[in-house]
Amino acid sequence: MKILAGGATDKGNVRSTNEDAFLVDLELQLFAVADGMGGHSAGEVASHLALETLHQQVRDNADGPPGEVLVAAVNAASAAIVAEAKADETKARMGTTLTALWIAGDTATIAHVGDSRLYRVRWGEVVKLTEDDTAVQELLNVGAVTPEQAADHPWAHILSQVVGREDALDVEQLSLDLEPGDRFLLCSDGFSDSLSDPRWLTTLSGSPPEESAEALVHRAVELDGRDNATAVVVVVGDEKQRSVRRSSWQRLRRLVRDSLTDLDG
Ligand code: CA
Repeated sequence: MKILAGGATDKGNVRSTNEDAFLVDLELQLFAVADGMGGHSAGEVASHLALETLHQQVRDNADGPPGEVLVAAVNAASAAIVAEAKADETKARMGTTLTALWIAGDTATIAHVGDSRLYRVRWGEVVKLTEDDTAVQELLNVGAVTPEQAADHPWAHILSQVVGREDALDVEQLSLDLEPGDRFLLCSDGFSDSLSDPRWLTTLSGSPPEESAEALVHRAVELDGRDNATAVVVVVGDEKQRSVRRSSWQRLRRLVRDSLTDLDG
């Protein structure tokens, strides 16, 4: 299936550096976002090193089972950061989030650690495919807080897992079938905190992905701008498949709208 993609990042209005980084490799169909942390610009080093290691690992093992390859690549990225931090004490405790999407044939494989996110839009429905590795998500999972309380909870940004620690990672991994017209968004928390209602994603369904990514990041920084903001948009299917899909979608929407109007009347 034809895949189009584009990414954008912005350091925002407050921070002096951009610790976010993204990867778009259309040939390999590998896409990723990393959001680094650590003083003395170490966050930048960590996010870039994670993406370089992931990229190299997937390139070198592209014939292997995608889920295993991607999880091994995330673990290799973590080990590379640990080694680099040990070699330079100004980089001690650096780390990063890492969310990766790898497409092979009609299947998407996902690996994820941290609080960057991956969303999918299919038939106008936006689904968050990754679970945040945060302290507040753990509270949510045990029912200690409601989703409303979680949104601005003080623990919302405390990560329960980081790429670049010696502890073994519990990498979230999933595989899903693709449909022409699917759109994916990978983003950092600076983006998802700002554009917190994921329905904005459906508003850009006709634009080329690099334009969508730039417009979305621009909008996120305009609305908030306190953190670095990054987005990668991935579109599945060639123009013909997507235009068939778009017209069915428009027809369906009209149908639903008309029938709701009938009910109102
Ligand atoms: Ca961030």
